[in-house]
Amino acid sequence: MKTITVKLTKNQIFSLKSKLSHFKIRHDIAYTYFQLKNDDVTITAYTSGKVVFSGLGAETYAAQFGYDPKAINQQPAKNPTIQPAQLDDEPLDMAGSDEVGTGDYFGPITVCACIVRKDDYSHIPVKRIKDSKQLTDDVIREIAPILMEHLEYSVLVLDNKKYNMLHETMNINVIKAKLHNQAFLNLKKRTMLPELCIIDQFVQESTYYRYLAHEPEIFNSLVFETKAENKYLAVACGAIIARYKFLEYYDKLDALYATQFPKGAGPHVDAFAIAFVSEHGPDALRSVSKYHFANTKRILNAL
Ligand code: MN
Repeated sequence: MKTITVKLTKNQIFSLKSKLSHFKIRHDIAYTYFQLKNDDVTITAYTSGKVVFSGLGAETYAAQFGYDPKAINQQPAKNPTIQPAQLDDEPLDMAGSDEVGTGDYFGPITVCACIVRKDDYSHIPVKRIKDSKQLTDDVIREIAPILMEHLEYSVLVLDNKKYNMLHETMNINVIKAKLHNQAFLNLKKRTMLPELCIIDQFVQESTYYRYLAHEPEIFNSLVFETKAENKYLAVACGAIIARYKFLEYYDKLDALYATQFPKGAGPHVDAFAIAFVSEHGPDALRSVSKYHFANTKRILNAL
């Protein structure tokens, strides 16, 4: 029996799955995302990225997903693997989540999970979104409303008072895990989620689910990936909406105190905070900052 192995990215693997959605599918095989089957071919997609095509139709199907028989014929035919396959980033239904604000002394943590479906690609500025790391605040303010108009999303804003209260009993990663979980559950209640749901990974998968062990409901069909905002459009969109909500919160803080709160957690933040505390008193810090950051000690000691 003919067997062909190709190496694909997760994006390509789930694109393959959506193209072959009429195949019989199994999810119960260890170390695999899934196995697809029809009368001609069995396709097994391993979490390592290896995809094995076997059966009479192996070559025909593999050729559609990055296998080039000509390239293989010139090699000793022992291990016909080519990697990585060159497939372009075709539109694909997916959901993704990301958070903003965990490195900023002032302001909330915001988490957004959002869904991008194939039909959405023509309504949103895909090329600009892909570069989400490079986007300035002005561009975020321009693009996010377009995304919020066209995409399904759930965004959570954890303000500083609530954050500081929660932080007395749980660390920042536990808080993040709960927020991501809640965002996906909110979406799930409203709509049918796509097969591919990606979380921008901030802890090991097993740790993430351990953090959620006592939650009444756990959304557990996630794919964990680091730097996911650079790889998956839905995660990039989630990051942009989360960032937008974060900026919106800063605007409110600025208006409330008639000042301009700095981002980040560096010396410029300490300098600002010392002046802020001199004017509003040390207790005011608890309602605008992530109080457990090392900045707090430095600020209070400097008074
Ligand atoms: Mn992230």
